[in-house]
Amino acid sequence: MTDLPPRFRQALEQDRQERARQGLTRQRRAREFAPPPFAILDGRSVINFCSNDYLGLSGHPALIKATREGLDEYGLGSGASQLVCGYSAVHKELEERLAEHTGRSRAVLFSNGYMANLAIIDSLLGKGDCVFGDRLNHASLIDAARLSRAVYKRYPHGDVNALTRLLQHNDTGKALVSTDAVFSMDGDIAPLKEMVHLCTEHGALLSVDDAHGFGVLGRKGAGTLEQLGLGPEQVPLLMATFGKALGGFGAFVAGDELIIDNLVQRARTLIYTTAPPPALAKAALRALTLLTEEAWRREKLSELTEHFIQGAREHGLPLAGSTTPIQPVILGTAAKAVMVSRQLLERGFWVTAIRPPTVPQGTSRLRITLSAAHEIAHIDALLDALVEVLGQEERACGQ
Ligand SMILES: *Cc1c(COP(=O)(O)O)cnc(C)c1O
Repeated sequence: MTDLPPRFRQALEQDRQERARQGLTRQRRAREFAPPPFAILDGRSVINFCSNDYLGLSGHPALIKATREGLDEYGLGSGASQLVCGYSAVHKELEERLAEHTGRSRAVLFSNGYMANLAIIDSLLGKGDCVFGDRLNHASLIDAARLSRAVYKRYPHGDVNALTRLLQHNDTGKALVSTDAVFSMDGDIAPLKEMVHLCTEHGALLSVDDAHGFGVLGRKGAGTLEQLGLGPEQVPLLMATFGKALGGFGAFVAGDELIIDNLVQRARTLIYTTAPPPALAKAALRALTLLTEEAWRREKLSELTEHFIQGAREHGLPLAGSTTPIQPVILGTAAKAVMVSRQLLERGFWVTAIRPPTVPQGTSRLRITLSAAHEIAHIDALLDALVEVLGQEERACGQ
């Protein structure tokens, strides 16, 4: 057995100790499957309140059937990059349906949302260009700017005035304004209508990451832009994923023909990677039809969200004002978030603590996510447990 070179060992051990000291050590919990909203942890059934499976589709029989059929029809792996021979008829069909569903002229598939975000920024921008991003944007958007060597300028969360000033002072290169539509750790919605006007005025391209709105918002589940009535003229570039509300895996970018073609020609995360398994494309196609066939899931989710907000208010719980199924309860220190999360798990509720660097220092939180698979009784039980646990915490801190 060879040992690690001493410099690596020393650096990694120091890193690990420092992380532990700050209460920031992360742990993956290996769960076993139970139909949503449940999960099996250490042999025990718990109610899952931290998945992004907003519609409860991940265990849907129709999606499992579609995937099985896809495996029978296409085999497992795609065998190569989309540009070599990995692109199948079912990938093409899915892209066409996504374009139609989102009202955009074309769409292109990616293995996941992280890679789709890298593709957008890296293939549209380079040295001398500038990306303007909300301070709470998803990490993949920040990494994308780094990769492209464009300058990344952050503005305070949701602050349109600050963005205006940045755009006014920008005099070099192409400008891309990049934002989460629904912020992943806060659940609030970006001021997209104002941003559309600003971008038009300043000749900037607006690119929207709707990972958390797609499937959840809008009358037909086409997402935040559908809900706000923003078409392709207003938002030329849209990214969304299949890993959240659609219960599957994968992602796409939809928009202007010229932009999509540019991605196919240039995106390194499309060209130099194996195309997604065709069976997953088949599952995503089926999930798209479920968005219409089972529109009740969106309605139920919205009622459950309303019920949670109402209940939390009545119990005096500190909510952040989100109206989406992402409901953060901000607790402050990492230690407190971890403690509360642990106590909830003891009571049968799985809500992971979210700590820096995923969220800013001092805003460690429970990120509660609701799903159409939940029932009112699950939510009431969670609220009761939260009140009890937070009450105990306060008494323990002598507040
Ligand atoms: C989850 C997420 C992504 C990444 O999508 P994956 O398909 O999981 O890689 C990108 N952006 C946002 C806002 C997300 O929440």
